[in-house]
Amino acid sequence: MIRTFSKSKLMALRQCPKRLWLEVHRPDLREDSAATQASFQVGFQVGDIAQRIYDPEGLGVAIDLQNEGFNRAFERSAELLHSAQPIFEAGFSSAGALAFADVMLPEQKDGKQVWRMVEVKSSTSVKDYHRDDVAVQAFVAQSAGVLLDAIALAHIDSSWVYPGNEDYRGLLKENDLTAEALSRTDEVKGWITQAQSIVAESSEPVIGTGDHCGTPFECGFYDYCSRDEPKPEHPVCWLPRFSSTKAKELAIQGVYDLKDVSDALLNDKQQRVKDYTLANEVFFDAAGAATDLAAHDLPAYFLDFETIQFAVPIWKGTRPYQQITFQFSLHTLAVSGQLEQTAFLDLSGNNPSEPFAHALVGACGKQGPVYVYNAGFEKARIRELAERYPHLSESLLALNERVVDLLPIARERYYHPSQQGSWSIKKVLPAIIPELRYDALDGVQDGGMAMDAFLEGIHPNTCAERKAQIEQQLLDYCKLDTHAMVRLWQVFAGRTDLKL
Ligand code: SF4
Repeated sequence: MIRTFSKSKLMALRQCPKRLWLEVHRPDLREDSAATQASFQVGFQVGDIAQRIYDPEGLGVAIDLQNEGFNRAFERSAELLHSAQPIFEAGFSSAGALAFADVMLPEQKDGKQVWRMVEVKSSTSVKDYHRDDVAVQAFVAQSAGVLLDAIALAHIDSSWVYPGNEDYRGLLKENDLTAEALSRTDEVKGWITQAQSIVAESSEPVIGTGDHCGTPFECGFYDYCSRDEPKPEHPVCWLPRFSSTKAKELAIQGVYDLKDVSDALLNDKQQRVKDYTLANEVFFDAAGAATDLAAHDLPAYFLDFETIQFAVPIWKGTRPYQQITFQFSLHTLAVSGQLEQTAFLDLSGNNPSEPFAHALVGACGKQGPVYVYNAGFEKARIRELAERYPHLSESLLALNERVVDLLPIARERYYHPSQQGSWSIKKVLPAIIPELRYDALDGVQDGGMAMDAFLEGIHPNTCAERKAQIEQQLLDYCKLDTHAMVRLWQVFAGRTDLKL
C-alpha cells in the first residue's frame, strides 16, 4: 500500500525510523510528556499571533483542519490559491506527502500571482530540523502546483521588546530559506521513499534508545522502547557531569551500573558519588561547611524567587521568554536567633516586576548575607530588574553583592545516596531534613506547578475563591523553599543551638 506521509511523520523519520514505524502502527504506545504538550500550546499561541502580524487588516482566510477534514481542507486551499488574500494553514497533498503551510502570502511578479510561504516557529533561532521541515513544506507545495516565489522561516526574536497595545510587529524574525529549501527536492523524495519501505515492514526497526530519543524532540515512545533495557540499581547517569561520550562507551561495553565503572574514569566528585552511593552512606564534611559559612554573620536572609516566561509577551516593556519575577519568599534570621518570614506575590494580572523590585529592596535590609540556592538564577533576575528600573538599580545591585550561594557548599560538603547524583534542593532537602517535604504541600509542589498556578491565578475567568486557594498554595510553596534553606544553613553552619 502506498501511503501519503504528513510532514510530522517525515520529521519523525528524520529523528528515528523506529519512531516513524511506531507512529504509524502503534500510536497507542506514545506518551507525550507535559513539557511536550506545553510546547504544542506555545506553538498554537505563536501561530495565532502570526496571523495578526501577517494579516493586520484581517483580509485573509484560515483553513480549519479540525472542522473541515483533510479532503475539504485541500480543496478549499486549492480554491483559495486562485484568490489574492493571505491564507493560513493552507493544506497541500502531492507526491506521497502532505503538509499545511502556516502562512501563504500572495505577491505579484512579472504580471503573475506568486506566493511567499512562511513557516512560523516558537523557538528563538533557526534549528537544523526547521530546515528539514521547510524543505518538506516547499517540496509538497511545489509538487501540488503552487507558484512559490519565496520561502521563509520566522522565529521569535528574543531581543524584541513588547511596546504594548497588542502591537506584536517585530515579535517574529524572518530568515529567507528559498534557495536552500528548493535545492533539497531529491532529499525529500528520498525521505518519502525511505518512509514507504519502513512502514511496509511488518515489525518495527531494531533501534536502541540513545541521544536521538531526545533530539530534536523528546520521543513519546521512550518508555516503550526502553522497557527491556537493563535497569541498573545505580545508573551511570547518576555520576555528576560525566561525559555522555564516556557513558556511551561504557554502554557499548555493557557497563550500566556505577559498581562496574572503573575508578580511573572518575574525578573526585564522581568518585565520591560512586563510593557513597554503593556503600549507602552519607558524606558530610561538617567542619568544612562550617568554615565556608563562618565569614557570614547574623542577621541573615534566605531568599527564593518564582518566575514566569511568555513566548508572546503580555506586559509592555518585556521580551519574549524573559524570566519575569512574580513572587519571592524571604526568611530573616535575626541576631537574637528569631526567625521571621515575609513574602511577595502579585496575582493582579499586571506586570509584577516593579512592585516585586520595590518589595525586595524593602524586605532585605541593608546588611547581612542573602542566602540563595543556585545563585546564578536569582542574581541574573536582580541584575535585569536593576537595568529596567534605574531608580532601584543601586539598591538592587547592592543586594547582589550580599548574595551567598548554598549550592556550592552542599556540592562540596554533603552527599546522601538518595540524591542520586543531584544537588537540586528538591533532592538535598529530603536527605538532610526529611520532615520538610514538598510532596506534603497542597497543590503547588514544584516550579512548573507554580508557573501553571500563577497563570491560572491571573486569568480573568478565575473566580475569587479559586484565586485565594492558588495564592495560599503559592505562598506555602515558596515559603518551604526558603525554610528549607534556613534548615540547610543551620546544618551546614552547625547551629543546632537555634530552634528553627
Ligand atoms: S524512544 Fe528512541 S528509539 Fe524509541 S522510537 Fe523514540 S527515538 Fe526511536
